[in-house]
Amino acid sequence: MTLLNKPFNTPYNTAPFSKIKTEDYLPSFKTGIKNAKAEIDAITNNSDAPTFKNTIEALEYSGEALDRLSSLFFNLNSAETNEEIQKIAQEVSPLLSEFSNDITLNEDLFKRVKAVYDSKSTLELTTEQATLLDKKYKGFSRNGANLPEDKKEKLRAIDKALSQLKLKFGEHILAETNKFEMHLTNEDDLAGLPDGAKEAAKQLAESKDKDGWLITLDYPSYIPFMTYADNRALREKLSKAFGRKGFQNDELDNKDIVLKIAKLRFERAQLLGYKSHAHFVLEERMAETPEKVTTFLNDLLDKAKPAAQKEFKKLENFAKDLDGIDQLQKWDSGYYSEKLKQKLFDLDDEQLKPYFKLENVINGAFQVAEKLFGLQFEEIDTIDKYHEDVLTYKVTDAEGELVSIFYADFFPRAGKRNGAWMTSYKPQMIKDGKNERPHISNVCNFTKPTKSKPSLLTFNEVTTLFHEFGHGLHGMLANTTYPSLSGTSVFWDFVELPSQILENWCYQKEALELFAKHYETGEVIPMALIDKITASSTFHEGMQTLRQISFGLLDMSWHGIDPSNIKDVKAHEVEAFGDTSLYPDVAENCMSTSFSHIFQGGYSSGYYSYKWAEVLDADAFEYFKEEGIFNRTVAHKFKTYILSQGGTENPMTLYKKFRGQEPQPEALLRRAGLLK
Ligand SMILES: [Zn+2]
Repeated sequence: MTLLNKPFNTPYNTAPFSKIKTEDYLPSFKTGIKNAKAEIDAITNNSDAPTFKNTIEALEYSGEALDRLSSLFFNLNSAETNEEIQKIAQEVSPLLSEFSNDITLNEDLFKRVKAVYDSKSTLELTTEQATLLDKKYKGFSRNGANLPEDKKEKLRAIDKALSQLKLKFGEHILAETNKFEMHLTNEDDLAGLPDGAKEAAKQLAESKDKDGWLITLDYPSYIPFMTYADNRALREKLSKAFGRKGFQNDELDNKDIVLKIAKLRFERAQLLGYKSHAHFVLEERMAETPEKVTTFLNDLLDKAKPAAQKEFKKLENFAKDLDGIDQLQKWDSGYYSEKLKQKLFDLDDEQLKPYFKLENVINGAFQVAEKLFGLQFEEIDTIDKYHEDVLTYKVTDAEGELVSIFYADFFPRAGKRNGAWMTSYKPQMIKDGKNERPHISNVCNFTKPTKSKPSLLTFNEVTTLFHEFGHGLHGMLANTTYPSLSGTSVFWDFVELPSQILENWCYQKEALELFAKHYETGEVIPMALIDKITASSTFHEGMQTLRQISFGLLDMSWHGIDPSNIKDVKAHEVEAFGDTSLYPDVAENCMSTSFSHIFQGGYSSGYYSYKWAEVLDADAFEYFKEEGIFNRTVAHKFKTYILSQGGTENPMTLYKKFRGQEPQPEALLRRAGLLK
């Protein structure tokens, strides 16, 4: 027993980061699993007949301490990891999947759950309870509870192998990212880069005792170089390095892992009686079937492609006129797009960045949350942090009641994975009559302050912050009884609605006036710039849409069929991209081998959900625009029917309660300027 197995006895029961020793994790997991097993035994050993309360609810509330430990550990494995933690993760992951398989393949437990499930029609359950019962039953049936013993064994072996392969996949990508650096010693090679990016590259070189400048595959280093560096050969070099991750026929290669993951997922689905992995996954999605997803994506492809081709042609002509480029390549895309955008809108990130000091943008997000939902954010220093960069807040409602604890961790570090995400350390639930409030975290990789400048965000970073904060609000405002139905525990193609809708406020004058103030003069962002942001927000929307569709189709191509005939990862990928490619293929690059979303994370058969959710968010935001972007009635409905409800009800039902009708795809096309 370590401190991780006991009540934390900290303010708000927050995680005691400073007291945790790395060597505590493994024994804590072992104890945690043992204790959680005992809780399950107590349910199956109950001599009373199975009821909703003694079986379904008891199961729902079991394993709380182990869940707390898992969240903590795996959150840190993403945000502040090291080789030791990664090693423990390798060791712990199989133990955890074994434990969860032990539960889902526990016949005595399933018998009790099934007994309650079969008597469903005679029980008087609330909507949330009925949803929980369904979810618990499916948690067993979808994990093989109805299978004969030999097939159960097989399923366990597949799950164990999958969990190890996914971890390996991610470790390879992190190692590839950290391994590569482009060391430049001639300042001419940095021509075109904004001063801030140059300075950051210099500081990075200094921190590694090198002269000159270092460019890496971390986004804050990679993106500015690809966007601004005039040296085409170096852009090509960097772009190819980025696209080569996991595709270099060495010990970090992911090709075999990709093939193995796809095949094991298919085998698993077949074992359970589904046609493919996608059929299995989509059974629990708003979109329901692979056919619906493919129709949705291809329909969008039809509508977006003419616009995308037109945009591409224009970009091609522009690059030819400017630099005599005959064939536009992938490493030209960001560079010439930015140049064309500047020409058309006279607007670049460097012009905007002074208005988006990180602290101001955070406050802006808080003010939007206050105006919409009456939330108050107070920075506190009474709770532990896992790194000095982390900011900590206490969130209260209009009555001063605690809503949530909020962690914000914004800057890149060696032990943090790329990208931006929301996660939680403690779920919301109502237990024994007490409403336990959640601990929510946003983790990003924004441009760090330098010696001479504060952290000034690109507009893309601003929308990213709002996006993750939207997920954060979904977690913070959760108000359900059961933790597994709380907050962001919703169908995957519904989970991006709260995040994507919040990005809309970044384009609205009324919202920008709250926080977009020049970091030196305090001047509010000029109206002309706001107009340009809005006008440029649909710039290259056709090509962007095509890109998202291509990722969605690639995902479906790996998971919607029997993959056993796929021998060549790259050839398969080229075929899957088919109609969506505008740029020539780069033979030495491969998307699938670093497509962490679908091979490491949980997005397999789910990448389409970004576009799907865009339909939802465009449609939902039209409602706000009709009534006013800070309209409290609409906001209240959004909070009541969407943000606070988690997964307690079918998302389409919840959406209709909020909007009064089903979402209209035309709203997305209208906003994107693709509807003529
Ligand atoms: Zn998101």
